[in-house]
Amino acid sequence: MDRVASLRRTFDEGLTRPLDWRREELRAMRRMLAEGEGELMDALRHDLGKPAVEARLTDLSFVDAEIDVMLANLGRWARPERVAVPAVQQPGHATVVREPLGVALVISPWNYPVQLLLVPMAAAICAGNCVIGKPSEIAPRTSAAIARLAGRYLDGRAVAIVEGGVEETQALLAERFDTIFYTGNGRVGRIVMEAAAHHLTPVTLELGGKCPAIVDAEADVTVAARRIAWGKFLNAGQTCVAPDYVLAHRSVEDELVEALTRSLHDFYGEDPHRTEDYARIVNERHFDRLSGLLAATSGTVAAGGQTDRGDRYIAPTVLTGVGPDDPVMEDEIFGPILPVLAVDGVDDAVRFVRARPKPLALYVFSQNRGAVDRVLAGTSSGGAAVNCTVVHLAIPGLPFGGVGASGMGSYHGRQGFETFSHRRAVLSKPTVPDLPVQYPPYTKAKEWLLKKML
Ligand code: NAD
Repeated sequence: MDRVASLRRTFDEGLTRPLDWRREELRAMRRMLAEGEGELMDALRHDLGKPAVEARLTDLSFVDAEIDVMLANLGRWARPERVAVPAVQQPGHATVVREPLGVALVISPWNYPVQLLLVPMAAAICAGNCVIGKPSEIAPRTSAAIARLAGRYLDGRAVAIVEGGVEETQALLAERFDTIFYTGNGRVGRIVMEAAAHHLTPVTLELGGKCPAIVDAEADVTVAARRIAWGKFLNAGQTCVAPDYVLAHRSVEDELVEALTRSLHDFYGEDPHRTEDYARIVNERHFDRLSGLLAATSGTVAAGGQTDRGDRYIAPTVLTGVGPDDPVMEDEIFGPILPVLAVDGVDDAVRFVRARPKPLALYVFSQNRGAVDRVLAGTSSGGAAVNCTVVHLAIPGLPFGGVGASGMGSYHGRQGFETFSHRRAVLSKPTVPDLPVQYPPYTKAKEWLLKKML
């Protein structure tokens, strides 16, 4: 593909290495977001019915905040890091030098189509790479808007957007990249990893999974309900770190379901279909998948349940009486359906979570530190949050990524810079002195001396 070859030439010529070029490009991306805000917000509204506040908060401003952190810290992150040199190698100067990997490929999904493309692209630029971004064809207006804006604002010698679907992505994957950063489902994650293996290209896989929210008997149930409802129904449940299901202590289950229902009413009013503050399902295929789950569940609809295919609307829905083998408990729901399952306590919840693939995020609600610690120590997940949902993503100092089935590698803040850098080990020694102790012929005296020095 010509585009990859031309980016590789740019990289080899060294355009992207100077920190000043990187800073300029990051500022250009920030300008692109500010001046293209209207265009992007319209596209997000069209593709996902995203409320303006959510679009700004979770897509556009999110990129801005990450770029701010990059600009403020790039000088420090890029500085060679000095490490100790053992006596036998003295005198010497040892450093870890962050160098760009080369040409990066970023493949992104449709649910937060601006930030999931631009944050990793910004991290790639920040680390001094050339980068191709492949937006999701499932959010077509946003994909087209980003391609248009990038052509206008970003340095086309080093940064490119390639639009398209499966065929175009597979054509890209046939090329040799120096790193591939993929966000999306695990099935395609395997395709990406297989293609990368062919060129021995390292991959970062940001995948999904079923994120549990555990509500302990000693939780502040009202706050728990509000924060779970917000994290779940944001973007109509199409969020990789949305609480997928709730494991509630039997003693607070009814109170929690009532509080969830109250929160939905407070957030979206009598009829969530009529509010502008609630998003839509991305397309008919996903709508049919989600309505199919609702039709097949053995649970009871405690709130919501209404659907309208013409408007790709599914009401924020809470299910109770759901068994662990119910269809909604098989795969990640990725939509506005929240099953609440009763458990006998946090240890029971821990067993439930441990019996399933490691999730991308895990939430625990309790006022009892001991219970929280038992959950955190007994489980593993990409990230975890106590008494809140989703917002751990907005802490740039926290690496964001999965573990096991929810992915490998991470980004956000410094971690993004590290992901797109190679940590090169560099030892530099003066030519004087050049002690003969390490050279043959090995004598008893040299052996004794070396042992002392090591
Ligand atoms: P998607 O369908 O948009 O696919 C993602 C990307 O993969 C797209 O760019 C698409 O063109 C490409 N693709 C699709 N099929 C392909 C194929 N056969 N070969 C090569 N490329 C292909 O998005 P999706 O997978 O439906 O996204 C939702 C999933 O992503 C959920 O599981 C969600 O949890 C996960 N997700 C994870 C994160 C995270 O940060 N960890 C963020 C958002 C979404």
